[in-house]
Amino acid sequence: MLLKILTRGGGWTLKFICDRMLGKLAKWLRIAGYDTLYVGDLPVEIELEDDILASNFNDRILLTKDKELYKKAKSVNRNVFLIKSNEVGNQLKEVESTGVRFIPVMDRCSVCNEFLRIPAESEKWEVLKKEGIENDLAEEYELWYCEHCKKLYWKGSHWENMIKFLQKHSINLRKINK
Ligand SMILES: [Zn+2]
Repeated sequence: MLLKILTRGGGWTLKFICDRMLGKLAKWLRIAGYDTLYVGDLPVEIELEDDILASNFNDRILLTKDKELYKKAKSVNRNVFLIKSNEVGNQLKEVESTGVRFIPVMDRCSVCNEFLRIPAESEKWEVLKKEGIENDLAEEYELWYCEHCKKLYWKGSHWENMIKFLQKHSINLRKINK
């Protein structure tokens, strides 16, 4: 399988673009640290979407649920993978079967795909105040920041729920020892 060959040793350098039906999958790929675009976030006219996905963003693997788009992309030798399941947990399994790993990392913003960084003190307090988040959160947890979304991330209950979701779907969370 093409994707299998690509992921062997390629690891987290893989980049993806997801079609309009795969917004949740795009978020999970970002949570796992993969550079992932979602076509719904791009300034693309809906009528032109399939053509653009089939023939542009060639440095990215196209993930699609649309058989017609899959065929179209294949016909121009586009690197494409057809997702069959409607349920995101099963979609993760499908993608995992190609060698992609879904171990959560604090690397990218799941909303916009930008890299996260440690917030400056002023940025941290600004978001905590704006969101009405308890100040002791900043003492309890390590925080990460998306400059673009002005959003903070931390490994709290949301993080634990993500891990539980992945475990429920038997996603392999063991780190690879190379
Ligand atoms: Zn963001």
